[in-house]
Amino acid sequence: MKIMRNIFTLIFVMLFSISSVFAYDLVLPREKDTIVNSDYIFFVGKAKKYEIITINDARIYIAPNGAFAHSVKLKIGENRILVKSDYNSKIYKFYRNRPIKNKDCELVELKPAIYKVLNDNTPLRSTPIDFGMNRIAHLFKDTNLLINGKKGDFYRVYLSKNKIGWISAESVYKTINKEISPQFTDMNTVNFKNGSVHTLKYTDKLPYVIEDDSNEIIFRVFNPFIKDEQVHSINIKKPDKYSYKTELNGGEYKFKVSKFDIYDKSDFENLTVYIDAGHGGAENGAIGCLGDKEKDINLKIAMCLKKILSDIGINTVMTRECDATVPLEDRVKSAQDNNAKIFVSIHLNSIPDIKMNIHKNRGTSVYYYNPNSKELAEDVLKEVTKTLNTRNDGLKTASFAVIRPTDYIGILVETAYMTNPLDSMIYKSKDFAQKTATGIANGILEFIGCEKCSK
Ligand SMILES: [Zn+2]
Repeated sequence: MKIMRNIFTLIFVMLFSISSVFAYDLVLPREKDTIVNSDYIFFVGKAKKYEIITINDARIYIAPNGAFAHSVKLKIGENRILVKSDYNSKIYKFYRNRPIKNKDCELVELKPAIYKVLNDNTPLRSTPIDFGMNRIAHLFKDTNLLINGKKGDFYRVYLSKNKIGWISAESVYKTINKEISPQFTDMNTVNFKNGSVHTLKYTDKLPYVIEDDSNEIIFRVFNPFIKDEQVHSINIKKPDKYSYKTELNGGEYKFKVSKFDIYDKSDFENLTVYIDAGHGGAENGAIGCLGDKEKDINLKIAMCLKKILSDIGINTVMTRECDATVPLEDRVKSAQDNNAKIFVSIHLNSIPDIKMNIHKNRGTSVYYYNPNSKELAEDVLKEVTKTLNTRNDGLKTASFAVIRPTDYIGILVETAYMTNPLDSMIYKSKDFAQKTATGIANGILEFIGCEKCSK
């Protein structure tokens, strides 16, 4: 009896160890049986040594560290996907709904009426959609607007006979005023060593836009409320490197342009770099094939970058130095309160944009939003791909909240793809954080014209 029990135990232990040797772990998909609204479903995970995995009969590439990723196109309705390894096979069921057609919203002409903006920092857009790079200004609370049309959830804002904008309907309210007549009272420019301040004064709050796409930054204030509407423009020749800030007090606009001086080492005490380790705390960010959390790797890179920059005398401010949840607006505010001149947000990427092939997108990309940040983005992309030896995934623009402010030069670095098996070999390597940080630091030094400052 005892022998029998021992044999059973032995068989059980053997079976258990075999199944754990040949068992893959999936990071994605998170659920086995679910409704999805996208064209593709991703299988991302880690295999055991020598494990062979097929997904719907396609043999899956497994990187030497076990990482794998695969995408399957879904048809409308039920999809059954068979994931098979040597000792394990499972059916995953996904139901794909018919895509919902975007309602084509008709433009409705409205009787012109006066509205006011509810909150500071309300985007005024060039098109009636809440997506992408279409912001033409961030309006202040109580700005008076003349609204004369509606499309979907957006109101059309009449600025002048040559210019309109769009604003989310829920960010404004209709006033009881039938008429207002704000008056222009004064305008002046003061130049100082590191920039200039331009003032435009009115008796009430009027809308403005900023154009920053040529050799000049153009700041325009519109008064559509008076007979023979008025537009005041200030054209400022762009400094080589610059940032800017708009303030509104009463009806007085102040538009401040700051030159970003080329620093030599003695100027470093005036240079604050804000280092933003992406995600943290309750927000993991992306999860890699091997189960790693993006937030942890971001923090390692950020800590290395802090050390490199501090060692050469540059001030740094960190979003977090531990695993903490920090809201996006707090990150921006902290950078602004600390007078940061450069903002670097550190991330790792996940699912590729080109969903056809999960292996296609890999490597490093750098994002910027405002034209003043493009040069830093280019320098950092060049240097990080050099130190990490990653594929250059390109310079990109996107409307990320942390890089939208204009009062610092802001970039967001996506160092590698966590869901790419080949990239996972790179981000799992021992000196990944140090090399990434070195690349970012070199890019910053190149941008400020001080490549030899680290020596
Ligand atoms: Zn991220």
